[in-house]
Amino acid sequence: MKIIVPVKQVPEVAEVKVNEETGTLIRDGVPSILNPFDEFAVEEAIKIKEAHGGEVTVLTMGPPQAKEALWKALAMGADKAVHMTDRIFAGADTWATSYTLAEQIKKMEYDLVICGKQAIDGDTAQVGPEIAELLSIPQICYVRHLEIDEDGKHVIAHRETDEGYDVIKARMPVLLTATKGINEPRLPNVMGIMKAKKKPMEVVDAATLGVPEDELGLKGSPTQVRKVFPPTKKAGGVKLEDIDAKTAAKQLVEFLAKKGAI
Ligand SMILES: Cc1cc2nc3c(=O)[nH]c(=O)nc-3n(C[C@H](O)[C@H](O)[C@H](O)COP(=O)(O)OP(=O)(O)OC[C@H]3O[C@@H](n4cnc5c(N)ncnc54)[C@H](O)[C@@H]3O)c2cc1C
Repeated sequence: MKIIVPVKQVPEVAEVKVNEETGTLIRDGVPSILNPFDEFAVEEAIKIKEAHGGEVTVLTMGPPQAKEALWKALAMGADKAVHMTDRIFAGADTWATSYTLAEQIKKMEYDLVICGKQAIDGDTAQVGPEIAELLSIPQICYVRHLEIDEDGKHVIAHRETDEGYDVIKARMPVLLTATKGINEPRLPNVMGIMKAKKKPMEVVDAATLGVPEDELGLKGSPTQVRKVFPPTKKAGGVKLEDIDAKTAAKQLVEFLAKKGAI
């Protein structure tokens, strides 16, 4: 079983800070991590390899330091990595990101592509589904449980929905996006960390990829971010505390009536 896991390096932030003058994210001094949802994807791929044999390749498009995210995945147990890095890739929106990754995946052998549900910085959850469309393969998103069918040709996935979950069977090759709860990602051990840097890491630039440059990065992006700003902070609500239920209910009704809600 050949499994490709696209992973993204993201800033480790609880709250994104924005430069009010330039309208851009402040990244200086913010440590970077492997996107947490991609840890679930890497863990699932390794578990499948352990149970059914095969090979796990992690793939990222990002600046030179993004190789640290690949090393983490290799330390967890992935077999090899592909690092797509070039100034020409910079400024990509989700379309150009997905196109670039899909063009690379087309050159590789795969039965499964497992993405994270979303990246915790961009947060669009678009890249996985877009890659599937570009590869013309089925996609199952928000997967919280995964099995390989006895025939070894199909996956059976539990896909999270607002109401519960769907059980979907699909023939491989298929793209999945992994959500929290699918597994408990392992922590890389010392041996894994030592082995990681000796595992193969292919570096791919725009020339190696061999697609027209105006399809890549900023030039290939139909959308552009004009401004980034934090959401306005909500004023604290009214708390009804330390009063009995009857008085609280009365005050609540009065409050809603005053607001014209009832
Ligand atoms: C309208 C718009 C314009 C943008 N313009 C710019 C810009 O000008 N400059 C800029 O730097 N950024 C820009 N971005 C951000 C950039 O497009 C995203 O960082 C990138 O496309 C990934 O999207 P996401 O973070 O929402 O990932 P999601 O779609 O939420 O990620 C889902 C999954 O896809 C995979 N994945 C995502 N990104 C990668 C990657 N790079 N490599 C491998 N796998 C990946 C991972 O498995 C991840 O869990 C823009 C985004 C939008 C929406």
